[in-house]
Amino acid sequence: AISASASVRAPSTSPVRAVSPLTVNAVRSGSPILLALALLAASLFLIRVDYDWGCAGILIAVLGLGVRTTLLQVLQRARGEALQRETSALKTIAWTDALTGIPNRLFFTEALARLWRGERSRERPAILMIDIDHFKLLNDRYGHPAGDGCLQAVAQALQRALVRPDDVLARYGGEEFIVLLRDSPEAGVQVVAERLRAAVLSLAIENPDSPDRIVTVSIGAASAELTDENTAVRLVESADHALYEAKCAGRNRVILGTERSYHQTATDTSITARRRRLLLPGTKP
Ligand code: GH3
Ligand code: MG
Ligand code: MG
Repeated sequence: AISASASVRAPSTSPVRAVSPLTVNAVRSGSPILLALALLAASLFLIRVDYDWGCAGILIAVLGLGVRTTLLQVLQRARGEALQRETSALKTIAWTDALTGIPNRLFFTEALARLWRGERSRERPAILMIDIDHFKLLNDRYGHPAGDGCLQAVAQALQRALVRPDDVLARYGGEEFIVLLRDSPEAGVQVVAERLRAAVLSLAIENPDSPDRIVTVSIGAASAELTDENTAVRLVESADHALYEAKCAGRNRVILGTERSYHQTATDTSITARRRRLLLPGTKP
């Protein structure tokens, strides 16, 4: 037991281990200037004996240090730019849905958070929840690869139907999409939602087992003045609520959540903390 504890303690008393990494780093980083200073000191001493060689030594010390610093700066700038390119490429990957190529839920959540943090707080944003009707029937009949193709076509159609560059379309999950309109009066929300529904209809993708025999979408929409994180969460909840109503009312339609249903959602105890986190992950319950 004695020898074991001794062997455990031994490395910490070793002189090599005693030098902290910070010191090692400082010596390594400072060695060029130490070299230049040594050359400078030698040259100053030499200048009394041989003026020309002394001057040459001083010049070499100064120039050497200058050239080294410049080269390092060039290298550092190039590294910084490469790192920036890599970071933005990684961000693009992290914010993009792999199947459809449109932004994903994470991107949407961050876009919504940026909005309520007050960048454009006086505006009246709207949320549209879009869900493909009877998508399971399409998957069951044609298989998942065909279902994936349908999701891609629907995503592209929805993207084309949004004309304002500020509007955000994202895949929310499975066969659900979500749209954030930055500033829209209720009448405008209805127009945009109907345009999105028509865009999917016009694709005329066959879904023979569904009542309409082609792929349709149901859309739930909600708009309100955004003042804080809670209203942002409630806005998503209201749109989700309206989508549920659109499904119950027969699908292939738009339901615009009213102010009443918005406030109802705000006090609705059936919307549990778990459901809240499901709708907007990362937000406080
Ligand atoms: P509703 O009209 O009520 O929305 O019915 P639905 O069939 O669209 O909804 P349901 O929730 O019953 O089924 C959704 C289906 O979407 C089930 C799931 O297998 C499928 N799905 C989810 N994500 C993907 C995906 O990435 N690719 C494919 N091909 N299918 C998916
Ligand atoms: Mg769904
Ligand atoms: Mg569906």
